[in-house]
Amino acid sequence: MSAVSIVLNAGSSSLKFQVFDADGRAGTALFRGLFEKLSGDAAGTPARVRIRDGAGATVHDESWAVTPGHGHEEALERLLGWTRATLQGRRVAGIGHRVVHGGRDHAAPALVDDALMDALEKLVPLAPLHQPHNLGPIRIIRRLLPDLPQVACFDTAFHRSQPELAQMFALPRALTAQGVLRYGFHGLSYEFIAGSLASYDPALARGRVVVAHLGNGASACALEEGRSVASTMGFSALDGLMMGTRCGAIDPAVIFHLIREEGMTPAAVEAFLYSQCGLLGVSGLSNDMRVLREAAPTDPDARQAIDLFVYRIVREIGSLVAALGGLDGLVFTAGIGENDAATRAEVIAGLAHLGVALDADANAAGGPRISRAGGPSAWAIPTDEELAIARHMSAVLGATTH
Ligand code: ADP
Repeated sequence: MSAVSIVLNAGSSSLKFQVFDADGRAGTALFRGLFEKLSGDAAGTPARVRIRDGAGATVHDESWAVTPGHGHEEALERLLGWTRATLQGRRVAGIGHRVVHGGRDHAAPALVDDALMDALEKLVPLAPLHQPHNLGPIRIIRRLLPDLPQVACFDTAFHRSQPELAQMFALPRALTAQGVLRYGFHGLSYEFIAGSLASYDPALARGRVVVAHLGNGASACALEEGRSVASTMGFSALDGLMMGTRCGAIDPAVIFHLIREEGMTPAAVEAFLYSQCGLLGVSGLSNDMRVLREAAPTDPDARQAIDLFVYRIVREIGSLVAALGGLDGLVFTAGIGENDAATRAEVIAGLAHLGVALDADANAAGGPRISRAGGPSAWAIPTDEELAIARHMSAVLGATTH
């Protein structure tokens, strides 16, 4: 029987996973699951895992009393045990990980070894809220199963093709040399979209495209011939568009103000800008677009939060179109981009000067093409970062075993 590969996407208290056929050809996962509440707390809130098969039916649902500080380890032991029991006889060929930061040296996925772990550890200060959670499970699996190949896939890698100017800040060279650069994130999503464009419109795949990845985290990327030439996220995943709970681009002087006038510590400012701003901060209600859409007709703050979200997207797309020198197509993806027809329509209305003409019926129907003929085309296309990782794994593992 063919082997399987497991893709992990680890957060601070959660662990998402998908199980694929290891040959990388499968378009959908065999299983997908989510471990939640892994941090443990004084109230003894149990951790929970739910696993669904490829058709979406729940095949496993379990809660357990997590040992504080060991939640991810317990989750991984359960995942490996469940995989062995469920996929009897099928070997696990490897585990692939979404790792937020690959720094400037990693422009491609890499097989995990000691040297790579040392290098990725050094990048923790560049992504302190994400990188440690991505590296933790890799370390645990190395301890539990030292011979199992693991592949790290970086959210920054796809953007290393950007021109030098697109990656630079206007800072003295010593800081640039230290790695204070615009890295860009959501690279696995952009790579997946760039790779799927040809199946929708072969000419567009070779053209100038802006992709708007609008989820809880949101960014946009300019693609030329399928390569990233500019993106809205910069040194961190805080920059660029307004997001669910992150502020996006902000005048750095606001940070001095919060420290000096509001008496906040740098750590408090960081936590605040990541978790209390964006749609949540402006609406005072929720970071969830579905909740805001429902509230907007009667709640002016919810309405304004959506309006600002759209306004910021339109402004940033204008900047990316300038970097591209024109626009052939616009793609919406991720939770909001794929599902919220109203956001797509509002963004396209703001881009009328570029000649993008909404096809309202196609947009309401979910696309994929949501624009009328003439002018740059617009699309709603689902992304699949886990499948992108699974494909990378089969390429990396294939290359190392043949
Ligand atoms: P993450 O960055 O956490 O992966 P997602 O890509 O899942 O986020 O996107 C989450 C966002 O997508 C939320 O704001 C959610 O409200 C929104 N969303 C999901 N489904 C819909 C829908 N049917 N209509 C409008 N918004 C949706």
